Amino acid sequence: MSTQPTCLYCQQVHHADASECRQCGMPLPAEAATAGERRLRRFTWFCVGLTIFCIVMFFWLPRSIA
Ligand SMILES: [Zn+2]
Repeated sequence: MSTQPTCLYCQQVHHADASECRQCGMPLPAEAATAGERRLRRFTWFCVGLTIFCIVMFFWLPRSIA
């Protein structure tokens, strides 16, 4: 799954594998956009994993009555 990069200069939409605009020749911002999106997704999955880990530990570890 990949988003279609849009040229910042002429708003031309391109295929995901395009590296520069076929209309004005400027480099597309695809790399930065997808990298940020990927980082956000990784962070989301990290939070989900951490939550599941905490729930498992909550039930698995013995409760100490102190
Ligand atoms: Zn362009």
